[in-house]
Amino acid sequence: MPDHLTEIIEELTLANRILGNEGVIDAFGHVSIRHPDDPGRYLLSRSRSPLIVEPDDILEYDLNSEPVAAPSAQQYSERVIHGEIYKMRDDVMAVCHHHAPAVMPYCIAGVPIAPVFHVGGAIGEHVPFWDQHDEFGDTNLLVVKPEEGHSLARALGKNSVVLMKRHGATVVGASLRELVSRCIYLCWNAEHQLRASLIGTPQPLYPGEITLAGAINTKTTAATRTWEYWSARLKAAGFWPPQRAAKASRRAPAKSARTAARSRTKAKKTAMRW
Ligand code: MN
Repeated sequence: MPDHLTEIIEELTLANRILGNEGVIDAFGHVSIRHPDDPGRYLLSRSRSPLIVEPDDILEYDLNSEPVAAPSAQQYSERVIHGEIYKMRDDVMAVCHHHAPAVMPYCIAGVPIAPVFHVGGAIGEHVPFWDQHDEFGDTNLLVVKPEEGHSLARALGKNSVVLMKRHGATVVGASLRELVSRCIYLCWNAEHQLRASLIGTPQPLYPGEITLAGAINTKTTAATRTWEYWSARLKAAGFWPPQRAAKASRRAPAKSARTAARSRTKAKKTAMRW
């Protein structure tokens, strides 16, 4: 029976891969969860494409975004986003930063995203903007300094999503599953809003509708249904369960040159089928 932390790490691995498979994050972008036993810490992968993150990649950080144990691998440079938000928002249990193609037009044009369909209600009534240039002048736009992360967290305020001009978005949730759902439906909302604007003027939800519709995704039935759907798609795509290839090869005894050549040929044949 896996312990609590092992399960949480497995769930975070799954969340990484779902967000990668659903087009929210690609090679860049990252997702974290607050440590279940210590609110002063959070869990985040080492610098790796989320679609192939494995449980062994997950590192523990304090809220200053310093690793608890010295890591042997490269870390995400923008991890201060996570630490600074956890510091400021006690209610936030999970954070995702991404540059999803669906939201980029809004970040570039400075056009606000508003909930335009019922499931989009999860993004909340107000989605603020943050422009790194306002406070920090010319930068490479990466949020790497604690003060930059702090400024972003301030712009997020009490909202669930903040759009970062010419960069991307940062999304928060009261749980990991709520966060994943909000990230995916933020993208769908952005797509629908853009398409609707091509044929007319999008009519956002009324404030009362946003509150009522926004609660749908957190209901157990909806949360289970979406999680199962995204997990099934991830499995069908061949990205779940993790291969744990590196771990297996570390444990495997050294191969003879002939065996190694044979498995290379086999691997090539397998690859050709696809
Ligand atoms: Mn970024």
